[in-house]
Amino acid sequence: MEKIQVKTPIVEIDGDEMARVIWKMIKARLIFPHVDFASQYFDLHIKNRDRTDDQVTIDAANAIKRYGVGVKCATITPDKERVEEYSLKKIWASPNGTIRSILDGTVFRKPIIVRNIKPLVVSWEKPIIIGRHAYGDVYSNAEIRVPSPGKAVISFSPSNNGGKKEEKTITHFAGPGIIQGIYNTDRSIRSFAKSCFRHAFEQGMDLWFSVKDTISKTYDYRFREIFDEEYRENWFTKFQSANIKYFFSLIDDAAARIIRSKGGMLWALKNYDGDVMSDMIAAAYGSIAMMTSTLVSPNGYFEYEAAHGTVRKHYYRYLNKEETSTNPMAIIFAWSGCLQKRGEIDKNSSLVRFSNMLEESAIDTIESGIMTADLINVAEENTNNVRVDTKGFIDEIAVRLNKKIESLN
Ligand code: NAP
Ligand code: MG
Repeated sequence: MEKIQVKTPIVEIDGDEMARVIWKMIKARLIFPHVDFASQYFDLHIKNRDRTDDQVTIDAANAIKRYGVGVKCATITPDKERVEEYSLKKIWASPNGTIRSILDGTVFRKPIIVRNIKPLVVSWEKPIIIGRHAYGDVYSNAEIRVPSPGKAVISFSPSNNGGKKEEKTITHFAGPGIIQGIYNTDRSIRSFAKSCFRHAFEQGMDLWFSVKDTISKTYDYRFREIFDEEYRENWFTKFQSANIKYFFSLIDDAAARIIRSKGGMLWALKNYDGDVMSDMIAAAYGSIAMMTSTLVSPNGYFEYEAAHGTVRKHYYRYLNKEETSTNPMAIIFAWSGCLQKRGEIDKNSSLVRFSNMLEESAIDTIESGIMTADLINVAEENTNNVRVDTKGFIDEIAVRLNKKIESLN
């Protein structure tokens, strides 16, 4: 079969460590042999972000705005240790944070379900999608390390002269401590709510939303109010006709209910709650490496990635020439998700079909018992089960994919 032609460039955002190694393997073995596309390539390797003073991250986000669809590899979010490790000029901001604030929108995390891996939570029969608000809160905070006794205040000064300045005392410090200021905007919360209702409706799933508005009576309560308004004004009838529900519950209550549920809901969460809960839920579905992540902006921009990070420990083993059995599934699904969306937008049905075949081949490989180290201990026992390294696993997928493609001819 001839290679599939993609007319719009794919925004490709490369990253760090083991994820970067796998990224290259996937392209070489699973994508390039079948798909021909122009890449708008942005190298977010930590050294390149450092060299460009992080401009490359901003350029990458703007390219997604221009072309609509991008795929991103995991990147290091630097801390003090990384500054030393890579001799960086400074502790650069989280690239995902930067991209999210440029694109706004919501991150949806969905597990990849395979028949032979049962979730650790035995009652879960269906996937739980996590909708994480990807804007503001602690990810764009202002923090102060308080050195000595003193007073901490929170204040707001309106830009227009007529407005009233507001100020509240946070606390009187008797000694050293810490302060953090966080914010969000009605506009971002509303677009978050819109994306969540829309995605739940499209997936035919109940929408759950939870905050802690009994404690945070202004901040968290505003989230709840906006969700309620959005539901009443735009979704009530649609949800009724689709026989799905909107359900609000306090975050701690919701966490307990989720564990006892059958799954099959979209759980919308604030930025930090979504960060934590999505990792927990991914682990309960078998492996963090089986969780995909999609950033959907209200303006129709999409960025696909794996939910996991750069898999640092495995990378050091790889550098030592030790066997690495890192699971490439979520990175493969980031690519397939991106190509599928590109195909949908461009009405390129061969590209959509290719992305489906890629996903099926990857799932078939695991269901036939061939898997990476992280899955071997969580998969149902079977004499066919065999543990392979990353390259071996990708090769097995390639064999299945090639067969599927040949059978089309
Ligand atoms: P991580 O890359 O998610 O890996 C944590 C652990 O999870 C690994 O050591 C491994 O466990 C397991 N794991 C994750 N992905 C796996 C895969 N594909 N296959 C098999 N096992 C997998 O988190 P991290 O090592 O704590 O963070 C490394 C870097 O990633 C950090 O610099 C962080 O800033 C960055 N990060 C980036 C993103 C992003 O760009 N989206 C997200 C999170 C973190 P075992 O060691 O037990 O095998
Ligand atoms: Mg996380």
